[in-house]
Amino acid sequence: MKFSAVFWYYLLIILVIFAAFMFGDFSQTNDVSRWLIIGLTALLLLAPLFFTRSTPNQIIPTTLPKSAPPVPAELAEVKRANQQLAEQDRALQAKDLELIQANQRLQKLEQAKNQFVSVTAHQLRTPLSAIKWTFHMILKGELGATTAEQKLFLQKGFDSSERVITIVNDLLNIDHIETGQSDYTFVSVKIIEWVENIVFEFTDRVKEKNIKLEVKKPTTTLPMVEMDPVKLSMVLENLIDNAIKYTPVGGQVAVTVKDDKLNSARSVIEIVVGDNGIGIPPADQGKIFQRFFRSTNAIRVIPDGSGLGLFVAKEVVEKHGGQLWFDSQENVGTRFHLTIPLRRTGG
Ligand code: ADP
Repeated sequence: MKFSAVFWYYLLIILVIFAAFMFGDFSQTNDVSRWLIIGLTALLLLAPLFFTRSTPNQIIPTTLPKSAPPVPAELAEVKRANQQLAEQDRALQAKDLELIQANQRLQKLEQAKNQFVSVTAHQLRTPLSAIKWTFHMILKGELGATTAEQKLFLQKGFDSSERVITIVNDLLNIDHIETGQSDYTFVSVKIIEWVENIVFEFTDRVKEKNIKLEVKKPTTTLPMVEMDPVKLSMVLENLIDNAIKYTPVGGQVAVTVKDDKLNSARSVIEIVVGDNGIGIPPADQGKIFQRFFRSTNAIRVIPDGSGLGLFVAKEVVEKHGGQLWFDSQENVGTRFHLTIPLRRTGG
């Protein structure tokens, strides 16, 4: 019961009692009627208490009112937002499914492409080697005498076949890396001997281009280095080959073996291949290890490179637990740094 109702109720009772005392003759009433009046008055006074206590049970409606109270504007707004969210959720789930399917299609295409590259590269390697050795035999005069002019063209054919073989080998290396088929065989290697043997392979190349190629080595005796010499030779050959390719006629290339990181926390041998060639433009320096990337100044000098050598090189060096990085200045020169831990640490 509300407070105002109780107030008016009691006021009415007080007025009735007051009127009874004012206008009634109380002395005339006998005992029974007096007690009746007192009892009735008490009952009336206590009645609101019973009424109030029983209120909770009585006011809870057992059924909802027939006409629902008007929905506030905010509630309608929340409902609308909820509906929109549910729609967006459905759209996102559909997009998600689309992306998963597109991704599966891409993976299949990638597999098909890898298979194509792998099969093609394998198929190309044998006939290319036959072409190269045929040029070689004619050049050496094993199939009869050739004129100077013929030799010039034969040499071009030989060089081109060698370049294509390099590209095919790069493609096969990438295929092996991507399919996880690269097997590493680690053995202990005498580092200086190993470097000198590789540098020696470039004797004819540097002579042709009138480039000075030298090995700089420490005077101390170096410890043996654990490595896969076949894979790491490919890396050093690629670095020296690049240095010669991207250095103009009459330039200089140096392969330096450094021992100053030998007694650090993690003993590594550092090899630096430096040249005074075309350098790498600052804008391209962040992309140099990406596969197929070639900077514009390199394309201008050697139009038919693959842009795969450095990508493969970085993978191989990191498998040895080493690092490969460079510093370069356009039109001044480039230095590639390669570190190899003395003991095998890579996967
Ligand atoms: P490729 O030599 O066949 O293009 P690489 O992966 O070996 O492929 O090299 C990638 C690119 O890095 C080259 O195209 C060239 O732009 C740049 N580069 C590598 N070595 C040198 C270097 N010594 N001097 C200048 N640029 C270089």
